[in-house]
Amino acid sequence: MIPFEITILGCGSAKPTLRHHTSSQIVSRQGALYMIDCGEGTQRQFIKYKFRHGQMRNIFISHAHGDHCLGLIGLLSSMSLDKRFYDINLYIPADFEQILKAQIEFFVHHADFDIHIHPIDCQEPTLIHSDEHFEVSALPLEHRVPCYGFLFREKQGNRHIKAECIDQYSIPRKEIQSIQEGLDFTTANGRVIPNEELTTPPDLTRSYVYLSDTRPMMEYVDFLQGVDLIYHDATYCEGDESLACQYDHSTASEAAEFAKKCNAGKLLLGHFSSRYGDEAWTLKRAAMRFPRIMLADEGLTVEIAEKTENGPLIIEWRK
Ligand SMILES: [Zn+2]
Repeated sequence: MIPFEITILGCGSAKPTLRHHTSSQIVSRQGALYMIDCGEGTQRQFIKYKFRHGQMRNIFISHAHGDHCLGLIGLLSSMSLDKRFYDINLYIPADFEQILKAQIEFFVHHADFDIHIHPIDCQEPTLIHSDEHFEVSALPLEHRVPCYGFLFREKQGNRHIKAECIDQYSIPRKEIQSIQEGLDFTTANGRVIPNEELTTPPDLTRSYVYLSDTRPMMEYVDFLQGVDLIYHDATYCEGDESLACQYDHSTASEAAEFAKKCNAGKLLLGHFSSRYGDEAWTLKRAAMRFPRIMLADEGLTVEIAEKTENGPLIIEWRK
């Protein structure tokens, strides 16, 4: 299957610490890069893990809290210094538009590339971006300011042609694309071979959802049913539910309960608070509710490697 990966650049909350950078991550598919959030210091992490901004056309910002967006203007400024010429799309909450535009006009007015700002302002899950790799939907979240999660759903691919049929029916190379797109094939002597005989179904599509910062959004359980991978706000530990409620965040155990209800393939916990020091205990408690769980960490890459009727195969390694 085509590689579909998520790499964590930062998974700490509030401010940078020696343990964690503030929020940012890269979704990648077949060389195309998509950034979600851009906290302070993100561009240094981006370089450290050997990403190149020429392969990135789209940046998604969840909300206008500093730990999710203070790195954006610096990144755009560096793109300009690098003489980037590819356009970039910025998907941002509508309340961030005015201040971001002012920053761009002040700091990046000399850029050789166009910056397209797409303000998000929706009350329910809404498709905001579509290209050859993904459909991306914004999901309104419950936080102290307008905030959106992002669901990446792979586009349905073509059917697979059976290698043995190419020889058997002497299918010319130029016909293969249309057969993979679903057309029947007519042999030289006029016999029509139905597409189902020549091909196997396309790969099952894979999905990833980023949900931070937020309370657990139980109203999305049906919408996200069977999602392959969830990244979820886990700012607080079990026992601090009242703080999570007060500041519109989640505990790791609440995130686990949510992932369980969604029947998710795997849960990736993130947006850690520095108040706890170590996340191991958090993980242990949350895993009692949903065992298919792991902790985000800078440099961690999570790949949705395979997808079968029984669910996804998810593998992880460090960059
Ligand atoms: Zn926030």
